[in-house]
Amino acid sequence: MLFVLTLFRWIRPNADIFDIKFFLCYRTILNLFMANKREGGMLRKIVLVIVIISVLWVNYGCVAQEQNIRWVTLKDIAKSLENQQPMNVGFDIDDTVLFSSPGYYYGRQKYSPGNKGFAIMEEFWNEMNNGLDQFSIPKECARRLIELHKKRGDSIYFITARTKTKTESVTELLAKTFDLENPHKVIFAGIKLGENLKIKPIKENKIQIFYGDADSDIEAALEAGIRAIRIMRAVNSTNKPLPCNGSFGEEVLVNSEY
Ligand SMILES: [Mg+2]
Repeated sequence: MLFVLTLFRWIRPNADIFDIKFFLCYRTILNLFMANKREGGMLRKIVLVIVIISVLWVNYGCVAQEQNIRWVTLKDIAKSLENQQPMNVGFDIDDTVLFSSPGYYYGRQKYSPGNKGFAIMEEFWNEMNNGLDQFSIPKECARRLIELHKKRGDSIYFITARTKTKTESVTELLAKTFDLENPHKVIFAGIKLGENLKIKPIKENKIQIFYGDADSDIEAALEAGIRAIRIMRAVNSTNKPLPCNGSFGEEVLVNSEY
C-alpha cells in the first residue's frame, strides 16, 4: 500500500488522498498487486496497464477539468438569486470564510511537530475553538458573499468539520467579524472516516446553498441535493494538498483564494 501511495504522491503531489478517484485507483492497484503476489504470471501485465490508465486519469483528470470550470462571480450569484425568497445558506469555516492556517500551524508545532497528530488531540481543538481564531484572517470573498446574503435577508449557518469542544468562541468571533445579528451557533460536525457528517446538518437546517473549499463540502451539498459553490483554498494554506476545484462540475467563485 505504501508503494502505491508513494507512487501517486510522486506522480501528482497535489492529489487529494481523500479524493474518491484517488482511493479507487490505489485500491484497485493494491488488490491486483496482492493477487499477483499470490498467483503470479499474467496479472503483472494487467497491473501495468491499470497503473498507466490510473496515472493518466489522476494526473490529467484535474487539468482537463480546469478547462471546463464553471466560474461564477459575485454578480452572477446575486443575479441567480433575484426573485428568490430569503433562504438558509451555509458556509464551511476553514479556508472558506477564515484563513485559519496560523492556528493550525501553531497547533502542529506545539502538539505534533512533523505530523498531523495534533488534529486528533482534544487539547488542540480546545485551543483552536477557544481563541486561536484571533490569528485567523477573514477572507474578502466571504465578506462580500455574506454581505450579499444579509442584504437578501438570508439566514447564515456555519458548518465546520472541526472537532466539537465543550466551549467555543468561534460563533462570537464570526458574528463580530461579519457583523451578524443573532447568529446561529456554529455547527461542529466533526470527521468520521467513510461518512460525510455535513450532509445531516445541511438537510436539517434546510440549507439551499453551501459554500466550501474542500471536496467534502461540495460532496455534502450535492448529496443533500442543494447548490454547491466552491471557494478556492489559498495556496499558502497549511491544509494540503490543494483540492481540484470544479472536479464535481460545481460552480467556482472567481478570486476566492482571499
Ligand atoms: Mg474548509
